[in-house]
Amino acid sequence: MAKKKTIKQKHPKLLKKKIDFILEILNKKRAVILSDIPGLMTEGLSQHNDGSSSSPLHFADIGTDEFNQGIALSRLERDESLIDKIEIAYEKINSGKFGFCDECEKPMKLGRLEFVPWAPLCIECQELIEGNS
Ligand SMILES: [Zn+2]
Repeated sequence: MAKKKTIKQKHPKLLKKKIDFILEILNKKRAVILSDIPGLMTEGLSQHNDGSSSSPLHFADIGTDEFNQGIALSRLERDESLIDKIEIAYEKINSGKFGFCDECEKPMKLGRLEFVPWAPLCIECQELIEGNS
């Protein structure tokens, strides 16, 4: 599970200024997600104890509730995995390993790093994995 990589080279395009910029993106993204999570948790984990009868007449309503609950839970799941990725990105920045693909270990394109700085893989590896699944 734990891959030990020793990347010796520095990312050619990642200057201090760029790292600062990317840190800013990560900070903002994390703040947005963290403010989003409590609402999703309430929505996703809420029970149907509204005191009303369990009459099947409300079947349609309950179905919608459960549907919304499902959406909230899957969003929550996605948000939590994104937070994990963001944390990993912070660690990589701290250890000077940021900007390299976890898979092929090549330096990732700057555009990708600015757009999705938490992405662990380069576009090529990402597409390869998605295409295989
Ligand atoms: Zn790659």
